[in-house]
Order: sequence, then C-alpha cells, then structure tokens
Amino acid sequence: MNNPINLEIKSHEHTVTNVRSGYRLSGAKNGKYPDGNQVVVQGSDTKVIFDTPLVANNLKAELEGTDMVILGHVHEDHTAGIHLLPESVVLAHEADVDAIRSMAGLLNHYGMPPEPSEEMIPFVTEEFFFQPRPDAQSYRSEQSWDVGQSTITALHTPGHTGGHSALLVEPEGVLFIGDIDLSSFGPYYGDGCSNLQDFRRSIDRLKQIEAKTWVTSHHKGVITERETFLDLLQAFADKIGQREAAILGVIGEKPRTLNDLVAHRFVYPTWYDGLWAESCETYTITQHLEEMLAAGTVLKDEGLYHLG
Ligand SMILES: [Zn+2]
Repeated sequence: MNNPINLEIKSHEHTVTNVRSGYRLSGAKNGKYPDGNQVVVQGSDTKVIFDTPLVANNLKAELEGTDMVILGHVHEDHTAGIHLLPESVVLAHEADVDAIRSMAGLLNHYGMPPEPSEEMIPFVTEEFFFQPRPDAQSYRSEQSWDVGQSTITALHTPGHTGGHSALLVEPEGVLFIGDIDLSSFGPYYGDGCSNLQDFRRSIDRLKQIEAKTWVTSHHKGVITERETFLDLLQAFADKIGQREAAILGVIGEKPRTLNDLVAHRFVYPTWYDGLWAESCETYTITQHLEEMLAAGTVLKDEGLYHLG
C-alpha cells in the first residue's frame, strides 16, 4: 500500500549497480577514504541523508530538499557536504556534536598535539570543505525519527569516536555502520575521543542487531548476507588482536619506550606521513599498553615497557 522507501548509496564514480530493489550502490572504489558512500533515505514526508562525504559535492541536485543530515559520527570525511545544506537540520550524537559546531570542537575531537592540530585547519577546510554548524542539534543514544513509513534509530556504537552511532532504518532493516567499515585496515581508535574497549563492545553489539542490509561508509559498501557480514566483522575485529600481538612482539625483543613503539608504527606504514599519523599511533599504542599493564602481560619500569 505504501511506496517502498527509496534508499540510495552513492560514491565518487556514478556508475550505478542495482544491488537489490530499492537500493543502489555506485562507485568502483566503494567510497575509499578520502571519499565515502552517501546514503539518501527518502521517506514519504522527510528526506534524510546519512553523513555527507566528498561525493556529496557531485550530487547537489540529488541532495536538494534534504530535511535532515544525521551524522553517524563526526570526522572530516563525513561532513564534507554540510556546506551545501545550510537550510537542513544537522544532527550529531551528543558526544560528537561539539566537533561539528566549531573548529575548536573538531580539533578537540582529534586531540592532536598543538602543531599538527593547527595544520589540520587548512587541511579540513580546503580538502574537506569543513564548515562549522553552530546550529547543529544533538541526538541521544537510541533516539528515533519517524520519516514517514520508516523509522530511523541511532544505535550508539562508540569507540571510533565517542558518539559513533549505527543508523538503523526500519522496517527495511538497513543498518548504516559508518566507520566500523569492515576494511582490511581494521578498526581506527586513534583519536583523542576514541576508545578501544568501547570499540570492542560496539563490534559485539553489531552482531546482535537484526538487519538485512549493512552499509559501510567506505570500502565494502553494501552487504546483504548476514553470514558475509559476520565474517567481515570478525576479520575486522581480529585486527585489534593482531596489533596487540605485534606490540607484544616488539616489546619482547627488548624493553621499549612509548616513543620507540610510536616510531615503529603499528597502524600506519612508516612511509605514511599524514598529519595525524604520530598522534594516532600514540593513542592506539597507549590504549593497548594500558590493557597489557592491567593484565600484567607488560610491566613498566622507568619509562621502559617490558614483558611481564
Ligand atoms: Zn571516522
């Protein structure tokens, strides 16, 4: 009796593939960073988009009339089309909303040291068109929106950022899982607002949620088989243990300082010189070390970590 929800997923190239009735995926690279996949939910009376990756800048006509932008989380590559939508309501989880309201909030979100942090200002402005939205509204965990025929619910899945949320569209059973992106890179918990233990719990939570279609922000795009989703999620989660084992291996060779470990690199290759690389390694390694110290597998003496 009702028209089915029109949900589209777009990324940088405009080659369109029908994944299944009502869903579309485009882009050979499936929205690899710095781009991402754009999800458009056209309810019977409300048009909602999830995040606004760079590709939004090529979709001006299709994003026209957007009532609400629901950000699954705030990061430069998820807010790159906000500047196109001054009339739309922008929503972010209450733990992330300060990062879209001001540049200071965004920099605090990353938590980088002062110098690279300053360099982030031209980077996010010029490469990602970042424009603060002081009027952005906050949403709470488990908040729902009725968009006409469909309901969207924000399921809090923190870890990547403090407010990272999966957005569930019902009754269609579409779950937008954002930067729990199932990529071979693995989970990213290298910002000041990230939390490794929360990330683990969020991965476990995703396994419990009944959905029919999973949509990531990058790489994998759309997944329609539960078994495939669970396999990809497990491989993604395994990267955490692999990083832990790698850190233990290096400490096992000889005692190391935190600086030694950061210089070794466990997230990015040593040649990668992104503005946030060192900061990300520091946050990532520190969280693993804290867990290892608590478990007694690693001990710390005068700034040197060694096996327990
Ligand atoms: Zn992100």
